[in-house]
Amino acid sequence: MTFAIKIFTLYPEIFPGPLQYSLVGRALQEKKWSLETVNIRDFAFDRHKTVDDTACGGGPGMVMRADVIDRALKFHYPVFSKSLIYLSPRGIPLTQEYVKKLAQRPSVGLLCGRFEGVDQRVLDAWEFEEVSIGDFILTGGELPAMALIDACVRVLPGVIGSAESLEEESFSQGLLEYPQYTRPRVWEGREVPDILLQGHHEQIRRWRQAQAEEITRVRRPDLWKKYCDTRDKEKG
Ligand code: SAM
Repeated sequence: MTFAIKIFTLYPEIFPGPLQYSLVGRALQEKKWSLETVNIRDFAFDRHKTVDDTACGGGPGMVMRADVIDRALKFHYPVFSKSLIYLSPRGIPLTQEYVKKLAQRPSVGLLCGRFEGVDQRVLDAWEFEEVSIGDFILTGGELPAMALIDACVRVLPGVIGSAESLEEESFSQGLLEYPQYTRPRVWEGREVPDILLQGHHEQIRRWRQAQAEEITRVRRPDLWKKYCDTRDKEKG
């Protein structure tokens, strides 16, 4: 089954951009996922192709019009779709947990905002989920859409060679990942930790677990608390 992505944007030429490279690009070629862009401007009502207007109630900046976006959506979704996401700083934070669930849907429509954002009424009418990639403001939703797609595609079956690497990476066990090393054994006076070179798998596993816990505790107290709470609950 193909994970089908449709992107509603004012800048379709931005895609596939970085999504055509590496594992995600190969998966696109192999039709493990598909990408279709829709230029919202093609659905404007006037000859100037107007897609935005001033904000009701005043204030700086322009707002993307509900009627134009609705027209684009109706053309592409003759049947109401429950799988529409508006990339937005107001949205729920994009997490690995959410990514894994999203990647199980057969198709997802992504709306990329520009200017001050999108008229609320079209978001309400089409029951958009809102998703944020972080507490900062970008100029448009295209980069967030790419981040979301990249994250979803790499968890699709068969995209990453070893399922183990998905299980061990940051967030998958509720922890950040342990430090990684490769050859040479000594680089500019810095050595690979001895324990990783001795071949004792159980000791390596324990060392990595301890490292992951310490890094999470120091860097992400929010994740650490959640991890401890879950662990305590499981212990009873
Ligand atoms: N006025 C909006 C606000 O304060 O929430 C910001 C609008 S932003 C300049 C333009 C568009 O970029 C948004 O409509 C959204 O699609 C996208 N965008 C910006 N930052 C984002 C983020 N952190 N996550 C997801 N989308 C974002």
